[in-house]
Amino acid sequence: MRGVIMESAGVVRVEERDDPRIIEPTDAVIRITTTCICGSDLWPYRGVVPVHHQVMGHEYLGVVEQIGSAVTTLHVGDHVVGSFCISDNTCEICRAGYQSRCVHGEFVSQHIGTQAEKARIPYADGTLVAMPGKPDADLIPSLMATSDVLGTGWFGAVAAGVGKGSSVAVVGDGAVGLMAVLAAKQLGAERIIAMSRHPERQQLAREYGATDIVEERGDAGAERIKQMTGGLGVQCAVEAVGTEQSLMQAVDATRPGGHVGFVGVAHEGVALPMDKMFAAEVHLFGGPAPVRRFLPELIQLVWDRKINPGKVFDLTLPLERAAEGYKAMDERTAIKVLLTL
Ligand SMILES: [Zn+2]
Repeated sequence: MRGVIMESAGVVRVEERDDPRIIEPTDAVIRITTTCICGSDLWPYRGVVPVHHQVMGHEYLGVVEQIGSAVTTLHVGDHVVGSFCISDNTCEICRAGYQSRCVHGEFVSQHIGTQAEKARIPYADGTLVAMPGKPDADLIPSLMATSDVLGTGWFGAVAAGVGKGSSVAVVGDGAVGLMAVLAAKQLGAERIIAMSRHPERQQLAREYGATDIVEERGDAGAERIKQMTGGLGVQCAVEAVGTEQSLMQAVDATRPGGHVGFVGVAHEGVALPMDKMFAAEVHLFGGPAPVRRFLPELIQLVWDRKINPGKVFDLTLPLERAAEGYKAMDERTAIKVLLTL
């Protein structure tokens, strides 16, 4: 089969890879119909994390081709969405809603790599969710979004404690930040402040439910949000970048007793100044999103055409041209790139 390999930082190729096969009875092999490039794929692309001959991709829609003897909820021919973390969905951690930290968990990006024609999915029952049927073509980008960015933005909003009437700030105007805006709206937030200085992204944030836009960053951005909220700061902030600056921007924009949900992938060396954290007195919660927890609900919202998260895909390319997609996202000429097979 064909699949994307990142040979080294900035070097993306589509090569022949071994066809996957069933190894464990809980496995499924799926034919991937749609995949995409994640903002987190840019970290190795830019050399921020080391990379050598790495399979790529962890977001995917597919059709089940084979199932192991222990798979019970899926059938050959099912159209499925998968999460970017493998999960059994039965262990104590999964049952508590943290499938991204399943005791049998692994990241799909590590060894599986779904920017490819096929994939072997371990713990298929606990990782994949079948759609109600064959999806209409116009729903594909939105279903694709549920696999990671929507689920991650949604978790960011849930981790930030967003509920009816909340005031919310979203730091980061990439796909996940925009999805956090959509999630905050769906969860009943009254005021949603999107922090962005890109006109097209501001426009999309407004479509998804942002009531205000703040262009200032860092201290100035947090100060602006305080001014807009009676000097207090917001009740809930979602951080969707992963740097110390963006995390502190979220913390500083949040009122004492408020909640910060962080879903931007932080790398080695990102640290919080504890003197400032001590003074801020906010709740801090985040990590890799347990997308599997939210998938059934999010798939249904898309299926019923109640939300349209797929608008974050502003470039579509065939898998064979994946390298162009990485370049476009790296240069920020595209928010998120859909790859078709
Ligand atoms: Zn588990």
